Amino acid sequence: MLGAIGSSSGAALIRINKGTNMDLISRDRARVWHPCTQHSDHEWLPMLPIAKAEGAYLYDTNGKRYIDAISSWWTCLLGHRHPGISAAIRAQLDELDHVIFGGVTHEPAVALAEQLCALSGLDRVFYADIGSSAVEVALKMSFHYFANQYAKQFPNSLKPCQKTRFVCLSNSYHGETLGALSVTDVALYRKTYGPILLEPLIAPSPDAFQSGVEASQRLTDEQFALQQARALEAMFEAHHAQICALIVEPLVQCAGGMRMYHPSYLAKARALCDRFNIHLIADEIAVGFGRTGTLFACEQANIRADFLLLGKGITGGALPLAAVLTREEIYQVFYAPYSELKAFLHSHSFTANPLCTRAALACMHAMRDEQWLLRNQHTAQRMHALLAPLEAHPNVAHVRQTGMIAAVELVRERETRTPFDWQERRGLRVYQHGLAQGALLRPLGNVVYLMPPYCVSEQDLLQLSQIICEGIDLACQ
Ligand code: PMP
Repeated sequence: MLGAIGSSSGAALIRINKGTNMDLISRDRARVWHPCTQHSDHEWLPMLPIAKAEGAYLYDTNGKRYIDAISSWWTCLLGHRHPGISAAIRAQLDELDHVIFGGVTHEPAVALAEQLCALSGLDRVFYADIGSSAVEVALKMSFHYFANQYAKQFPNSLKPCQKTRFVCLSNSYHGETLGALSVTDVALYRKTYGPILLEPLIAPSPDAFQSGVEASQRLTDEQFALQQARALEAMFEAHHAQICALIVEPLVQCAGGMRMYHPSYLAKARALCDRFNIHLIADEIAVGFGRTGTLFACEQANIRADFLLLGKGITGGALPLAAVLTREEIYQVFYAPYSELKAFLHSHSFTANPLCTRAALACMHAMRDEQWLLRNQHTAQRMHALLAPLEAHPNVAHVRQTGMIAAVELVRERETRTPFDWQERRGLRVYQHGLAQGALLRPLGNVVYLMPPYCVSEQDLLQLSQIICEGIDLACQ
């Protein structure tokens, strides 16, 4: 059997079997292990077998259409199979598929780095392949920067550099490799993997929804954000000598339930990082490229991070790529004669893959030429208007929106904001209703949200809002 892969009959072996929904589902059940999935659920909830995608739509193997309301885990920025991005990948495939990036360079990687620097106001681009590895790169780079500085300042010290800790926000999510998971504050993950993680310092989130739940007197979102920044300040005052970096998801804590906060927190965090010689890592892997209404979320606080992390939608969602953008001064701390051993140590096999970087370039061009930032303003307004009626729903505690991300927080009781028990899995019922009605929604616990591809139409949004309203009614009965 195995030998046949190399033989002339090999092509037959890799033929895609275009079976029916049930064929694919049962073959999947026999062999595949899916991400973040309790597979026993799929005894009663069949896996969704997707055969084709176009624009805002996915089609299953029986031809049924679903609106991709969550941009396939927030990756599909403009729409599936964007013609410009698909053409760029095809053209690149005819020239250069992949090449080692150590000691070698190529046009798409250089051109993309030039573009990203021009767009962000940062100076250097280090490529990674997925969001989590970009987080690993930034954490290591920040620590290594301070270690190199320390070695220069105290060449004969027997004590190692003391800056070894990271600060993250409560309810944060930065990925699932061990370093990224260490700065992720999701209780289930920490409970499960805590023994093998780094210990971060956790500063309280500026999340405005929590402000309503916790604050004894009602504060505005901005007042609450600034109050939380004072807690960050106290943490920095006490521990700055050990802290390398603060990592944040600017404006929206996506995986933590699309929790949103006021930009003043970012401005304050930037000032505190400057005051205490701590790096600011802006993880815009989920929110970059227009999701929050501006190209980068940090723009709304008028700040520049020391490390800006990009991923997911960077290629329009067609291929995996991530990038860590930083300042020239940081790069220069690693620049020294080889014998000083100061070079940054990190290498992934697929760093700056030519197909991925070319796709990202095409995506940047499409963002600009098709004026998505401008067009999204109208789409975001429509999302707002269509979800607004839910503010009066007896099981809705909060309807919130930042740019192209809108979320609805379901609760058992609206007045007291008493949450549903997680075991009731109300969000899952909305998901099931969505599938039945032709929408791929994937609520985060009890938070139902929309984060659609930018090409989503007025008609799609109307349909989605109807499905969400009905789904919430059914799920909360
Ligand atoms: N950071 C943020 C803010 C994210 O939302 C995610 C993914 N959801 C990641 C990092 C990790 O990205 P990836 O899944 O590509 O590893």
